[in-house]
Amino acid sequence: MGGWAVAVHGGAGVDPNLPLERQEQAKLLLTRCLNLGVSALRSSGLPAIDVVELVVRELESDPLFNSGRGSALTEKGTVEMEASIMDGAGRRCGAVSGVTTVKNPISLARLVMDKSPHSYLAFSGAEDFAKQQGVELLDNDYFITEDNVGMLKLAKETNTIMFDYRIPAIGSEYCSAVVENPPLTMNGLPISVYAPETVGCVVVDGQGRCAAATSTGGLMNKMMGRIGDSPLIGAGTYACELCGVSCTGEGEAIIRGTLARDVAALMEYKELSLQDAVDYVIKKRLDEGKAGLIAVSNNGEVAYGFNSVGMFRGFATENGFMEVGIW
Ligand code: ASP
Repeated sequence: MGGWAVAVHGGAGVDPNLPLERQEQAKLLLTRCLNLGVSALRSSGLPAIDVVELVVRELESDPLFNSGRGSALTEKGTVEMEASIMDGAGRRCGAVSGVTTVKNPISLARLVMDKSPHSYLAFSGAEDFAKQQGVELLDNDYFITEDNVGMLKLAKETNTIMFDYRIPAIGSEYCSAVVENPPLTMNGLPISVYAPETVGCVVVDGQGRCAAATSTGGLMNKMMGRIGDSPLIGAGTYACELCGVSCTGEGEAIIRGTLARDVAALMEYKELSLQDAVDYVIKKRLDEGKAGLIAVSNNGEVAYGFNSVGMFRGFATENGFMEVGIW
């Protein structure tokens, strides 16, 4: 075994004109979360599944990225959050969608895995389960930030159904995104560029157990009831005895490519290395879609890949390697 490793992401996409100050804030947050993971692995010896939950809770509680507080808004200006978690040891998993009051959706996903007979609960059933389990609940307003209200306004003004991950864009009061003329389309719908980004964490612990967790508010100006890749095991999140994977980017493309599971399948069936499997899915499984992912293997390797402009990400390994990057 190659020791423990932890990787985090704060989403693929990234406005190429993102102000330096915001880049610095993102790097600081990623570093803080990495350090949290590192100390949990180093001193407390927590299992991988506990570490991914711990780190994603921290990301959800900070409004900077698109999960928990700071989630992207629906077309009606509300939040509908979703999350999933998977423990590679035993291939156990839990997921939630359409959550509107749960402070930390990743912990509700964990409870679905540990305390329900099911793998995935959504909307009112997920909310009822949250109440029953006694998790912290907050008014929907807590999750809505001023920045996101501004971005939703921009999305509506520019008649974009979804914000996403493609350059280039125009300046605006709220972000420096540009809307192309004629606009880019995805599934026949107009899209534009800047989006707050999803979060994820993957960990291999000192005993070689892998885990993965992903949490998001989804896409800005999404239709009510839309479910992306993040809560879907095999698409946005996957872990098994070989690896842990968390994806981000255009959910519809990630779902079609079964991105997270394909990384594991290439390692299992084709015996590819972690990085080769990651490179393959980014190159071959996304078609026109823009996305990225982070991954760890059971022998302590970390890998990432993306075909968007950037991806907020960070890595740390037992042998002292630590890196945080965006572009
Ligand atoms: N993949 C997420 C979704 O489609 C968005 C993101 O990663 O930023 O909901």
